[in-house]
Amino acid sequence: MIADISIPDCSKLFIGGEWVTPDQQKSYSNENPARREPINEVAIAGAADVDRAVQVARAALDSKEWAGMPAADRGRLLWRVGQTLRERAADLAALESLDTGKPFVEALYGDIPHAAGAFEYFGGWSNKISGEVLPVPPRFFDYTRREPVGVVGAVIPWNFPLQMAAMKIAPALAMGNSIILKPAEQTPLTAFALAGILEELGLPAGVVSVLPGFGQTGAAIVAHADVDKITFTGSTAVGKQIMRGAADTLKRVSLELGGKSPNIVFEDADIKRAVRGVTTGIYYNQGQMCTAGSRVLVHESVHDAFMEAFLAEASKIRPGDPMAKETRMGALVSEEQFERVSQYVEIGRKEGANVALGGGPGDGDGYFYKPTVFTDVRPEQRIAQEEIFGPVVATTTFADEEEALAIANGVTYGLASGIWTNNLSRAHRVAQGLKAGTVWVNTYNALWNEAPFGGYKQSGHGREGGRYGAELYTEIKNVCIYI
Ligand code: ADP
Repeated sequence: MIADISIPDCSKLFIGGEWVTPDQQKSYSNENPARREPINEVAIAGAADVDRAVQVARAALDSKEWAGMPAADRGRLLWRVGQTLRERAADLAALESLDTGKPFVEALYGDIPHAAGAFEYFGGWSNKISGEVLPVPPRFFDYTRREPVGVVGAVIPWNFPLQMAAMKIAPALAMGNSIILKPAEQTPLTAFALAGILEELGLPAGVVSVLPGFGQTGAAIVAHADVDKITFTGSTAVGKQIMRGAADTLKRVSLELGGKSPNIVFEDADIKRAVRGVTTGIYYNQGQMCTAGSRVLVHESVHDAFMEAFLAEASKIRPGDPMAKETRMGALVSEEQFERVSQYVEIGRKEGANVALGGGPGDGDGYFYKPTVFTDVRPEQRIAQEEIFGPVVATTTFADEEEALAIANGVTYGLASGIWTNNLSRAHRVAQGLKAGTVWVNTYNALWNEAPFGGYKQSGHGREGGRYGAELYTEIKNVCIYI
């Protein structure tokens, strides 16, 4: 299979528009999680490489070759990036599937178009975000300017690699910044493919750099005195380290972190539809999503009917070869992730929750894990409080709206939530009561480049997507003139 896929050379770093050897000449072996076979050797960027990338990013910014370009021209180039991703979608999806273990079909119809859409969408904002003239006393003329934040450091996770890279790079570039991307160590391939495309399309040198490596590389970017802003997606634990690391230099920080999102099924829901939404809500991408609907709250009067249909639907999902067309669930991304999921399932068992489905590895050599359903879970149990980031769902019952909201909000996270009801008033009432950045009603995981996305509580700071996502990469300057 690997023979058919053109793997980018990941042995160099992409800095200043050139492919350079890492200062310490260190590398690591990147693994295909569906087969536990090596894919390629990937360079590790060290502190000296980070410093070099920051210097060229600063020089690129100062040269105004990008930031000073007519905004519409920046937008046009970003649009072409989007178009190129669409033209090469099959190759990129194959790389993404190989690197992450996710089904090829999902990468082809999900990750890649979404990433392309981010470049197209934010390209459109490049000449639409502007300042304003303010109604100050008549002897003054006061206006605001939206300027680039400066040098942006982006640290991203492995679950949607190209999509995450696009959600950071596209708005940052649209607003005239330069950016240094550190892909996750598990999934560097599409970041390199993207760097190749940016180079090919003539993005000025130094505006985007790609520095692969582990947490230390990310930490070096966070600590660097000449980086102005960090944009991070990943675990809440690392998000906290990043905030601490950014404190010394008071960098701007936006964080899109973990979740323990509730999917709430009311007694007046369309149960068939709810079953489908709850199933993909937890099992899409092997459950490795910050928005995963990993807690299912079902009204006690429909619990049995719902569970019967849900278990029937979930049991149809069999983890298998990510490249096969019919596969709806691939492999977990790494051994570490496989161990983490296995341990949480053991914790759930020990805490007395009932395993109604799955609860162990799937067939094959890769890191396959069966779709798993826990029933009779008490809200205070660890499997109902902590993010597992795998195909494991904790189900529980509630008696009324008040109790549903108390359980739904009774976690430290607040990223997403789902409501299944045909009662319009209830839908709005519960949407108001949920402490989460996104509320889906009778749908789940409907994520758009156009819509703001981010968390309440320990799910993060800031909103990506929409106008908010573009504005994250701007600094506001006020100019006041005495006339
Ligand atoms: P996950 O738990 O989903 O693997 P992490 O939050 O550990 O996600 O990692 C997300 C990204 O953060 C990866 O690119 C990883 O290398 C990076 N990272 C890990 N630790 C640090 C750190 N201390 N500082 C900066 N980046 C880090």
